[in-house]
Amino acid sequence: MPRLGDDIDDYCTKCKRTTDHSVAAMAGEEAVKVLCRTCNTEHKYRHNRSGKMEMTTEEAFQKVLASVTGQMSGTNAPPKEKKKKKLS
Ligand SMILES: [Zn+2]
Repeated sequence: MPRLGDDIDDYCTKCKRTTDHSVAAMAGEEAVKVLCRTCNTEHKYRHNRSGKMEMTTEEAFQKVLASVTGQMSGTNAPPKEKKKKKLS
């Protein structure tokens, strides 16, 4: 079980990744607050899980990025038909 000041891995919202933390507050046998050793931010212990929001945003961003880069590299794809309609 963790103790105050113990090393603990957790997801840091500021660093946006799992970093080394120290236990800053306990509730019974559970760490409830941790201190990020990278940015010194104290936050709720997330049980080393990224919040749903961050994950969704991150995944969405990655998807957008992938689709954008995919479109840019896929220049062989024909342009959209909409522009042609304007000509006729
Ligand atoms: Zn941090």
